[in-house]
Amino acid sequence: MTERAAAGIGEAWRAASRRIDRLDARLLVEHVVGCTHADLIARPETPLSAEQSAALDALVARRTAGEPLAYLTGSAMFHDFEFHVSPAVLIPRPETELLVELGAKFATERARTCPAPRIVDLGTGSGIVAITLARLCPQAAVSAVDVSPEALAVAAANAARLAPAVRLLAGDWYAPLSGERFDLIVSNPPYVVSGDPHLALNGLPFEPQGALTDGVAGGDGLACIRAIVSGAPMHLAAGGWLLIEHGYDQAAGVQTLLRAENFSEVQSWQDLAGIDRVSGGRRI
Ligand code: GLN
Repeated sequence: MTERAAAGIGEAWRAASRRIDRLDARLLVEHVVGCTHADLIARPETPLSAEQSAALDALVARRTAGEPLAYLTGSAMFHDFEFHVSPAVLIPRPETELLVELGAKFATERARTCPAPRIVDLGTGSGIVAITLARLCPQAAVSAVDVSPEALAVAAANAARLAPAVRLLAGDWYAPLSGERFDLIVSNPPYVVSGDPHLALNGLPFEPQGALTDGVAGGDGLACIRAIVSGAPMHLAAGGWLLIEHGYDQAAGVQTLLRAENFSEVQSWQDLAGIDRVSGGRRI
């Protein structure tokens, strides 16, 4: 049986719920039909066109194969904002809220003595960190860097809608920032250890592997973080902060890297799950 036989959007939702999670089914029907949850409840008999039924069928099949919902609908929520996402970028993670909260706190503190604190987000992907910081600290001058042109196109579409002043730059970490200094550097870089079995689970095979892992076989996942920490002193103003999101067991390793570069106030912060998730330090 296919959803083609469905009488209306309510029946299409029920039929899809037998194959995939009920909430996912609802969101896919809403996406394909362009209706709301209220429409589904109040007008379940609203018919689907043959094209809509076929499109829904195809999306339900992709979801059954494990493709993340955000790639099927092309959007994901982060910090109250809706972001466009595609398979060129990571899907926003709840733990990244911690990086944004800390970034906003340090940028706001800095704004007391410096009217327009300069922030850069390295490896911006869909732009969630840079754009949310620009929204939370309107006085800041926010830049965002990514090596992937496809990711930058997604970030550009999100910035155009949510924070048009964000400056987007193509390049590898600090490469497009020669001679520039910032009051805050934030990054959620690739940090999952190459070959980690986690990479085969929870839809991760559908995400850009270059955004998840540093790709160093037999490594510790810290190759990108090493590059970011070692370049930071050249690109931070005195008193500026570097904040990096990392894996559940990498806080000690990242702190060691920060101390080796003479950062002060080196520390880690815990995410909502109680895991050390962001580490950072201040340039003296
Ligand atoms: N936290 C993500 C995960 O474990 C990885 C994000 C990243 O590599 N920056 O799936």
